[in-house]
Amino acid sequence: MVVKKVGVLSLQGDFAAHGAALERAGAEPVYVRNAAQLAGLDGLVIPGGESTTMLKLLRYDGLMAPLAEFARHKPVFGTCAGAILMAADVSAPAQESLGLMDIAVERNGYGRQIDSRIAQIVLDGEPAEAVFIRAPIIRRVGEQVKVLAEYQGTPVLAEQGRHMVATFHPELSASDTVHRRFVDKITQRIT
Ligand code: GLN
Repeated sequence: MVVKKVGVLSLQGDFAAHGAALERAGAEPVYVRNAAQLAGLDGLVIPGGESTTMLKLLRYDGLMAPLAEFARHKPVFGTCAGAILMAADVSAPAQESLGLMDIAVERNGYGRQIDSRIAQIVLDGEPAEAVFIRAPIIRRVGEQVKVLAEYQGTPVLAEQGRHMVATFHPELSASDTVHRRFVDKITQRIT
C-alpha cells in the first residue's frame, strides 16, 4: 500500500508532535507553510495552538482560500485551535473560521481554573486519555455530524464526512488511536 502523505499546518502551535504521531500511525507527515505545499497531499491536520494567532497568519499568508479549496476534496482533521478554525460558528469571542464542520464551539469553554487537564474518555468502547489545554467546548453539532467521544456530556471527538475534529490533543498521548482513525479515513477514501 502506498504511504499517505498527510500535511500538518505548521504556522504556529504543536505541529511537530502531530508529525511524529502521524508517522507512528503509518503516514508520511509534510509540514505545510504555504499553499503550494498542499499539492499532492492526501489529507491535512490543523494543530492546536492559538486560533487567533493562526488565523492572523493564515490571512497574512493568503492561506484561507487554498485551505477551503483543499478541504472540498480532501480530509482535514483539526485539534483544539484547529477545531476552532474548522467550526461553522465560533464564540467567546466570535472570530472568522473555515466552516468545514457544522459545529458551534465556545473558546476556552472549560473556564480558567480547570481549563487544562488530562481526562479519561471512552473511544471505540475502550478507555482513552484526553489532554485538554484551554480547550473549546462543542456546544452544537449539526445533523450530519457524528459524535465519536464525549466528556462531561459534550462532544470532544466528532466527524462529518471526510473531516474530523478533536477538542483535546491526541498528539500528546501515548496512544495513536485518533491519528490512526484519521489515516484510515484518508485510506478508505483514496484506495
Ligand atoms: N484556547 C485556544 C484558542 O482559543 C486553543 C488552545 C489549544 O489549541 N490548545 O485558540
